[in-house]
Amino acid sequence: MAMARGNLFVMTGASGVGKGTIRARLMERVAFHYSISMTTRPPREGERHGVDYWFVTPEEFEAEIERGGLLEWCRYVDHYYGTPREPVERALARGEDVLLEIEVQGALQVAQQVPEAVLIFVVPPSLSELRSRLLRRGKDSLEKIEKRLKRAEEELEQAEAFHYVVVNDLLEQAVTAIEHIVWAERSKSARM
Ligand code: 5GP
Repeated sequence: MAMARGNLFVMTGASGVGKGTIRARLMERVAFHYSISMTTRPPREGERHGVDYWFVTPEEFEAEIERGGLLEWCRYVDHYYGTPREPVERALARGEDVLLEIEVQGALQVAQQVPEAVLIFVVPPSLSELRSRLLRRGKDSLEKIEKRLKRAEEELEQAEAFHYVVVNDLLEQAVTAIEHIVWAERSKSARM
C-alpha cells in the first residue's frame, strides 16, 4: 500500500499575534516537520541561520524565485520571505505533517497551489492589544511597528478565506484549540 501523504497545516495571522509562541508550544505536543523560511531580513538578536530562518541576500532570494524553488513568497515590510519548496514536498511524501508559519498573502498562495492544505488564521483579541504586544516585544522601531499594524488591519479582512479562525487571548487556550484542529484533520485524512 502506498504511504499516505502528510497533511499541510498553514498557520497565519498578524505579526505580534503570537504565532511563533503558539508554534513552539504546539510542537511540544504534536509532531510536525517545521518549514524553515528564507528571508532577506537581517537576523534579530539570538536568531540563527538554518534554525529560525535561512538568512539570504536579495540576489540569492531572487535567484530562488527564478528557479521556482519557493512554494510561496511575499514582500513584507521591506523584506522578502518565502517557503523553500523541496523540504516541504519531501516531508509530505514521507508521510510527515508539515507546519508553515507565514503571513497572509503567502498562505493564500499555498491555498491555491495545495487545495487540501489546512488554513488556520490566528487573530488578536483586538488591534489595540496587538499594538501593545508589538511595543512590549520591543524588537522593531516605531516606524516598523506602524507598518506591521497597518498590514495587520488589511490582513484581518482576509480571515474568511481560512478554514479556522483562532483568537489568541489566552495562549494555552489558543494552543489547545489548534491542537484539536490538528487531531481532527489527522483523523479525517486517515479515514480517506
Ligand atoms: P518576522 O520578521 O517577524 O520574523 O516575520 C514577519 C512576518 O513574515 C510574520 O508574519 C511571519 O509569519 C511571516 N513569514 C515568515 N516566514 C515567511 C514565509 O516563508 N513566507 C511568508 N509568506 N511569510 C513569512
